[in-house]
Amino acid sequence: MNFDDTPQEAEFRSLARAWIDANAPRELEAELATSSLGRIRLKKHDMVEVGKAWQKKKADAGWACLSWPKNYGGRGATPIEKVIWQQEEGVYGKLTQPFQIGEGMCGPTVMAYASEELKRSYLPKLASGEQIWCQLFSEPAGGSDVAGLRTRADKKGGDWIVNGQKIWTSGAHYSDYGLLITRTDPNVPKHKGLTMFFLDMKSRGVEIRPIKQANGMQEFNEVYFTDVVIPDSQRLGAVGDGWNVSLTTLMNERMSIGSRLATGFPEMFEFCSNLMTENGLAIDDRATRSKLASWAVRASGLKYTSMRAISALSKGERPGPENSIGKLVAGSMIQDVAAYAMDLQGAAGVLSGPEDAEAAGKFQAMLLRAPGTRVEGGTDEIMRNIIAERVLGLPGDIRVDKDVPFNKIPTKGRA
Ligand SMILES: Cc1cc2nc3c(=O)[nH]c(=O)nc-3n(C[C@H](O)[C@H](O)[C@H](O)COP(=O)(O)OP(=O)(O)OC[C@H]3O[C@@H](n4cnc5c(N)ncnc54)[C@H](O)[C@@H]3O)c2cc1C
Repeated sequence: MNFDDTPQEAEFRSLARAWIDANAPRELEAELATSSLGRIRLKKHDMVEVGKAWQKKKADAGWACLSWPKNYGGRGATPIEKVIWQQEEGVYGKLTQPFQIGEGMCGPTVMAYASEELKRSYLPKLASGEQIWCQLFSEPAGGSDVAGLRTRADKKGGDWIVNGQKIWTSGAHYSDYGLLITRTDPNVPKHKGLTMFFLDMKSRGVEIRPIKQANGMQEFNEVYFTDVVIPDSQRLGAVGDGWNVSLTTLMNERMSIGSRLATGFPEMFEFCSNLMTENGLAIDDRATRSKLASWAVRASGLKYTSMRAISALSKGERPGPENSIGKLVAGSMIQDVAAYAMDLQGAAGVLSGPEDAEAAGKFQAMLLRAPGTRVEGGTDEIMRNIIAERVLGLPGDIRVDKDVPFNKIPTKGRA
């Protein structure tokens, strides 16, 4: 592994740095830097509006959706250049949150399956932040097992009529378009009867109900469809091939989630270095030092695992399973770190929410967000399955309903 920039990478870095120095919204830097890992909220500004302004500025200068082709609003940058950009963008990268699903998952799927005309019409607006996209995959009966979904799309003339429900749809409440997977044929095994579409989220019959989270935020939603009409021209891939289309989205999802993982360790180290307890500074306590040492080992393991992936990218190779490992380790670590910080805070550790607890609520917000981190983009168990099957070559998970027609799979109401 060589962590130094090549001359071309160094040149790219200095270009990116100079542009960010001249254009980033400096007035938000301190607030973004101190926003907790579990709650990014700006006091005087709307995150989506500020994010849109930043995204548009980047797009106008050719710094948005870096790895996308120029024709579609990107820069045609290499994967390693994208990593360098993210390193340089630093805290301002938090402003890109509303666009990550569009850039990392929906855009690549549209790119792989839509006609040239549709790509040129939709992708540049997605890249510039003018239009936000969301991912409509999970349902109450189809999460880890997306292919268990029940939202129906039935052909009627040149249109499809959609009925059903999605859940946990991040950003649906501010999205313009959604990537929607539906069941078009219940008579064949579950992976075979699916079809993918994209739809205008303002279509008649789409109802978005926000879900209030434990940390007080509303990042995701339930989305209901009642006789929603989608033209056949908005189908992505062949009828019945939605599972393969969704694999493009899911592969990109794992890549994009893995590339921006946090562990909470730097925050914890700083906290312990400053926290005065009855027995002196927390960092001088033996039990705390032992915990910090073990987290430091895990954090550096993750750092070097991610550097190995970056090094592979720099050599033009595709990274291996590093993202699944990173997500698995970082997700549980952040939860442990936050829980221990709250123990150290004592009684004040249960405060969360009110204005005066905002500053002290960093670890509380982290703790409340951590379970979501361990579930989104594949739960811990699913990550373990991936590592077991694709890395260690262990026998596959038992999938008893794989070859059974979907409408013959026994369910509670259809035993
Ligand atoms: C913060 C957040 C944002 C999200 N955003 C979106 C979004 O924008 N769009 C979207 O479509 N979805 C989104 N999701 C949904 C997410 O993809 C699902 O929650 C996730 O795939 C798990 O599905 P589930 O919740 O139905 O749990 P289930 O699949 O029902 O799992 C329940 C439990 O069973 C375990 N389990 C399931 N299958 C297996 C197996 N084969 N082997 C071992 N254990 C297993 C799981 O690990 C889990 O512990 C989001 C979720 C979160 C938390």
